[in-house]
Amino acid sequence: MTETQERRDPPALEIARWWLKNQDAAIPDKVFVYDLGEPSCFACGWYDDSRPTYPEVSLARAWAKSRLQRAHLTPHALGGSNHPSNYLMLCKQCHDEAPDWRDPSMMLQWAKTRVSYISRFQADLLAAWEALRPGQPLPANLIEEPSFTDALRNLLYANAGTHFGIGLKRSTIVAALAAVADDQARPVHETPDLPLHGTTEQPRK
Ligand SMILES: [Zn+2]
Repeated sequence: MTETQERRDPPALEIARWWLKNQDAAIPDKVFVYDLGEPSCFACGWYDDSRPTYPEVSLARAWAKSRLQRAHLTPHALGGSNHPSNYLMLCKQCHDEAPDWRDPSMMLQWAKTRVSYISRFQADLLAAWEALRPGQPLPANLIEEPSFTDALRNLLYANAGTHFGIGLKRSTIVAALAAVADDQARPVHETPDLPLHGTTEQPRK
């Protein structure tokens, strides 16, 4: 890509606005832009909760500062245009893994079928756990689909020093899981076991 072409890239907000208006026709069964005020990856839905969002800052600034990247449907080198319709806003990981192919329908298909960042995060987490504790099952009682239990979340907030999300290293989460698992394995006689999950007791009439 030349510098001249780079300068002609449309602003991120312009790309998001185009897709918000045209996504129903262009990509049935998949929503790329849910909320203009909360910039998120068109393919996996990831958003950076450490960045200011609208109305804290202007829409243009929220998108410009969102850490999402412009990804071409058809690359410039293969004749792609600078129209907003030739771009998707993607997180770094999706952009790294997206196909660079002349036919734009390939990129659209890929983005439509991309797993959510939550699913990707959980798969990565499992791999990190298996590397740290080979042969030891993941403490399933600490993880609740589709998100972590409050206990683990609080532990992460208290000890990890960053917000929960894709920005948190898998190894840090695994360290937290290991810490909770070790703590639970320690015999404690004076206190009864506390459930991590809420009770299933039905309300009385
Ligand atoms: Zn993504």
